[in-house]
Amino acid sequence: MAYQLPLLGYSYDALERSIDGETMRLHHDKHHRGYVDLLNKTIANYPQFDNTTIEDLLKNLNDVPEEIRADVRASGGGHANHELLWKVIGPPDGATPKGVLAEKIKNDFGTFESFQEKLTEAAVKVFGSGWAFLAIDLKSQKLEVMSLPNQDSPLLHGKSPLLACDVWEHSYYLKYQNRRPEYLKAWWNVVQWEAAKGRLESLLHEALMTR
Ligand code: MN
Repeated sequence: MAYQLPLLGYSYDALERSIDGETMRLHHDKHHRGYVDLLNKTIANYPQFDNTTIEDLLKNLNDVPEEIRADVRASGGGHANHELLWKVIGPPDGATPKGVLAEKIKNDFGTFESFQEKLTEAAVKVFGSGWAFLAIDLKSQKLEVMSLPNQDSPLLHGKSPLLACDVWEHSYYLKYQNRRPEYLKAWWNVVQWEAAKGRLESLLHEALMTR
């Protein structure tokens, strides 16, 4: 079973005030598709990965033969990161973090505002191309902000991502050019807090069941 480009779940222009439709179309239909195609091409002759989820592929990157490991890291990371991205951004809904997500943010960052500052700072300081994430370490059950280069995923570091903020120029250049901080300010408006909370709940549940 080849990896698939997921559907977006909303229209390309649904985020227009924060992220323009043309950027969304290119980002999903060209960039993300490119990662999926490259990943499928890379593992085409390695049938041992036929039924491996993208998460398991990245969590166990050391099991990937060395000759394709760097390509799987880049294209597989690109696929996983974007698949997450489309789920945790969406049409602005005015929501705020609720339930266990709100509690953990308060516990681990003090206030929502200090968490926002920390993630924004991590995203601003990515040099070149990369991502900022909110992730959870399921061993300590603590949230953390991560800033990672290229298409690296928190899964490579044993962490599970809850929010993903893409700071590759392809995610903002048409509308914001070099004004990354302005893009980041607008990015907060499209975060889907319910989706992030749902991810956290199922990860915590899964961790409980496998303990
Ligand atoms: Mn991207």
